[in-house]
Amino acid sequence: MHPLIDKLERERTLSRAEWISLLDARTAELARDLFRRARALRRKYYGDAVFLRGLIEFTNCCKNDCYYCGIRRSNRAAVRYRLTEEQILSCCREGYALGYRTFVLQGGEDPAWTPERLAALVSSIKGEFPDCALTLSVGEQPRAVYQLWFDAGADRYLLRHETADAAHYRALHPPEMSLEARKRCLWDLKAIGYQVGSGFMVGSPGQTSVQLAEDLLFLRRLEPQMVGIGPFIPQKDTPFGAQPAGSLELTLFLLGLIRLMLPSVLLPATTALGTIHPRGRELGILAGANVCMPNLSPQEVRGQYALYDNKICTGEEAAQNRRSLERRLASIGCYAADGRGDYRPL
Ligand code: SAH
Repeated sequence: MHPLIDKLERERTLSRAEWISLLDARTAELARDLFRRARALRRKYYGDAVFLRGLIEFTNCCKNDCYYCGIRRSNRAAVRYRLTEEQILSCCREGYALGYRTFVLQGGEDPAWTPERLAALVSSIKGEFPDCALTLSVGEQPRAVYQLWFDAGADRYLLRHETADAAHYRALHPPEMSLEARKRCLWDLKAIGYQVGSGFMVGSPGQTSVQLAEDLLFLRRLEPQMVGIGPFIPQKDTPFGAQPAGSLELTLFLLGLIRLMLPSVLLPATTALGTIHPRGRELGILAGANVCMPNLSPQEVRGQYALYDNKICTGEEAAQNRRSLERRLASIGCYAADGRGDYRPL
């Protein structure tokens, strides 16, 4: 028991100094108490349902050069691919048959996918699967482009802010990128009417509780419908290839804090969490998460969407393995929900 956890549950927010002191005070015992409360809140809004999203990593070509990311443009070792419209639609058809009702199109910022071309793909997917939600995650764009895709039928958008501390942001990104631009995109997406997901990496090189406190304060202000967090994991061909990965323990603690701060948020137990621990995603759900994003990309490109080393991409995490996922969820008292799994306002 910690007075700041009580306060967080009561008031849904803490001051910068309080966030830092709670993060630094964490112990296994405190984590157990936090996770118990986080699970109770998750249950209050969504019962024991875990929402599934079929993730389609449709291009690993990227014009950006983020220092942590394996598909950054300077990584000559990355084997590049780009799915065609027909391949993407066939992933959706396969996913639909497996019961998925949300498709997430994620990729690098690939100039070959012009705004118009992606808008046409969005309309085809929504035309063929009108009962499905479509989520885009293709980085920073002018507001007019976000609007074009929204008008074409996109429902949701994932864009992690990565870190809400401007100096730390500069340490993770090349000079042409900025926290200001990132935030501007997030506010534009909200204003247009997307269900918005933001989030950050845990344990990125140089990160301390001070930066994490900024991340939590920023999420509080933004009030996104979804929050994606996962441990930083080094990718050997990037400038951060020799840095240590973020920890399971800290990632889980943050999941619990986010559930208390934004009680009805849709909170994935991410692939990165599943990569650093064999039961990472189950532990994430037990800490307050309620979304899983199995991989629907064609088997032959899954390994090439290599944001970081050792990304799980061979079996268990595959969307095709729905039965095994259902068993894992049942083992922790949860079940895979049907339907789009939209956000439930508080
Ligand atoms: N181009 C899109 C999608 C980026 S990939 C965009 O800009 O939003 C999705 C997420 O993977 C990123 O937001 C980042 O937080 C995460 N990621 C990238 N490299 C990583 C690494 N080395 N370890 C852990 N997560 C990473």
